[in-house]
Amino acid sequence: PSTPVMDDKAIVKDYFNATGFDRWRRIYGDGEVNKVQLDIRKGHQKTVDTVMAWLQADGDLAGLTICDAGCGVGSLSLPLAAAGARVFASDISEKMVAEARQQAQETLASEQLPQFAVSDLESLSGTYHTVACLDVLIHYPQAQAATMIGHLSSLAESRLLLSFAPKTLAYSLLKKIGDFFPGPSKATRAYLHREADVIKALESEGWRIQRQAMTKTQFYFSRLLEAMR
Ligand code: SAM
Repeated sequence: PSTPVMDDKAIVKDYFNATGFDRWRRIYGDGEVNKVQLDIRKGHQKTVDTVMAWLQADGDLAGLTICDAGCGVGSLSLPLAAAGARVFASDISEKMVAEARQQAQETLASEQLPQFAVSDLESLSGTYHTVACLDVLIHYPQAQAATMIGHLSSLAESRLLLSFAPKTLAYSLLKKIGDFFPGPSKATRAYLHREADVIKALESEGWRIQRQAMTKTQFYFSRLLEAMR
């Protein structure tokens, strides 16, 4: 018998290899989408742009090792790699990784290509200057968030970039959450996280918050924290 954790993971993995893959590839792509999806696309792009702006402002992106955990179709991995970072990109969904790899091959020089892997983020090992994990925590129940943050912390030498849907907006978000995972195949649940809990988990791993941002559009909410040590 599998644990609840495994059930959640298996469901998320199946979703992002099937209907979730089609949906999110469209949202994260540049083709035609409906109004709600366009709003989510723009919001998510802002989160990516904020991370890129922070890292570029530091001026040392070239050569930095960056682990993009739960990379999706490579929305962050590709610009990071294009900017000269050495990117290790992984996702629990092989379809997502295949899509990210194909996009990388089409748009990047061969020496820039990220290293790709299909992996649950808890199975990742090694150390990286920076670990980024954007909009993945939404798939983790509250009780598993601290463990997840603990594992990412063990991979990150100097910086952890984490984004999540903050629980303070629960009410408005919950009403709209149906658009994150729509239709009869409501295969995955979305979990919100209290910022205080996330910060507590980070601080207990020795991090302090350096930069923070909030992206909020009509259908997209994401709190972004940069933890340093
Ligand atoms: N980080 C990407 C971005 O911001 O463009 C993708 C965000 S998408 C909403 C969430 C991604 O997390 C999906 O690609 C999903 O397959 C992945 N994911 C969910 N749970 C995961 C886990 N336990 N380990 C690795 N990836 C996971």
